[in-house]
Amino acid sequence: MFLPGNIQNCIDLLETAGFAAYAVGGCVRDACLGLIPHDYDLCTSALPAQTEAVFRDYRLVLSGEKHGTVTVITEDGPVEITTFRTEGGYRDNRHPDWVQFVPDIQGDLARRDFTVNAMAYSPTRGFADPFGGREDLKNHVLRAVGDPVSRFQEDSLRILRGVRFAARFGLNPEEKTMEAMLSQAGLMENLARERVFEELCKLLVVAKAQDITRFAEILAAVIPELKPMIGFDQHSPHHAYDLITHTAHVVEGVPAELPLRWAALLHDTGKVETFTLDATGRGHFYGHAKESAAIADSILRRLKAPTTLREEVVALIGKHMTRLQPDRKFLRRQASKYGFPMVESMLCLQEADMGSKGTGEDDGSAVFAEVRQILAELKAEDACLNLKALAVNGNDLMALGFRGKEIGTCLNALLEQVVEERLPNEKEALLAFAAGRKEETQ
Ligand code: ATP
Ligand code: MG
Repeated sequence: MFLPGNIQNCIDLLETAGFAAYAVGGCVRDACLGLIPHDYDLCTSALPAQTEAVFRDYRLVLSGEKHGTVTVITEDGPVEITTFRTEGGYRDNRHPDWVQFVPDIQGDLARRDFTVNAMAYSPTRGFADPFGGREDLKNHVLRAVGDPVSRFQEDSLRILRGVRFAARFGLNPEEKTMEAMLSQAGLMENLARERVFEELCKLLVVAKAQDITRFAEILAAVIPELKPMIGFDQHSPHHAYDLITHTAHVVEGVPAELPLRWAALLHDTGKVETFTLDATGRGHFYGHAKESAAIADSILRRLKAPTTLREEVVALIGKHMTRLQPDRKFLRRQASKYGFPMVESMLCLQEADMGSKGTGEDDGSAVFAEVRQILAELKAEDACLNLKALAVNGNDLMALGFRGKEIGTCLNALLEQVVEERLPNEKEALLAFAAGRKEETQ
């Protein structure tokens, strides 16, 4: 396994001082998969004070020392070095009541969540892989270290982490692990909402449709609003899938950006409440976009999502049934009102929604392509679509005698003329129009 120079150097310094040292956890897993690790964690037999002594010539960060972690600032960035430790207690299903340093790597690896995360590597000592993580990776298996039920009872966030690792690396939970993920999912209620939200974000950006469907029950344990969507028949000739499967395809269908992925996951939550059957046995969902937006708002508030994210998701969901038209004027208006990034996100969500019905009927992709083309043209033209880009400003209007509120009202009226392409964005023309307005109101 390749180790960057600074990591190799940290290991050498610890080994020279007489301690065992390994790269451990995610970096070993990633390297075994042929991926480039985004960071390298080290573990060692040295106690924190001994690690500090070994790295006395370096700048150190000691905020994690209580848990055995000393952070060494190397030329190539910070490296976390943690003393071999075990932990126990977990009366709250989330935090260990105690941690204890142990003399060897085996004890340290045993506290880790999944076999694929419980591997270590040292250039001189080779792999430490007591739970068969490499074999599991080869067979695409996600397996808890030790007894899965007790491991998830210790820390129920591991259940969501398991979902994330399964999705990210295409792993299938081994039978006992999957059973325990399901049977213990209720414990996740005890977790801090922020931690659940953060874990869901990490999952959403790697999730494929099949991950949302195969782990739907687990996701519903942290977002109960998803529960009635599982197996929900839409009674519609336009929908071959049940609600959660349709949702899952939309999630995969939008770019892997947080607002879009969240919007995709929650865009049809309001269908359950608004469902009606007509005389012919066909399902309808009148007003479901608005209802879904309200439900998404309450879910994201509950999960303590950042306000900007929540507002963007709610806006996207609220507009997901207002189809974007391949019409220049219409799109200029939309871009002026919401900005290009938002309109582009609306397009992505609508496109994925239409493309996830599973019926094989026309998914509107030709129309969406036209919309995308027009948006690109409008962007390239650098058209004036907001007040900042307007060729006149408040001072210009004051020079014409406008005062107070009149100024903003007139600027907006001018912008509307320009957006509608009734006036060119040129100072002279705009001032003439403004002067005309002024006369009218006098
Ligand atoms: P990523 O690439 O997402 O950072 P990672 O495996 O490095 O993946 P981290 O959350 O950074 O994940 O954790 C580092 C290591 O610590 C894991 O590989 C695992 O061995 C262990 N670990 C982290 N969280 C837990 C937990 N809740 N329970 C048990 N072990 C954990
Ligand atoms: Mg990591």
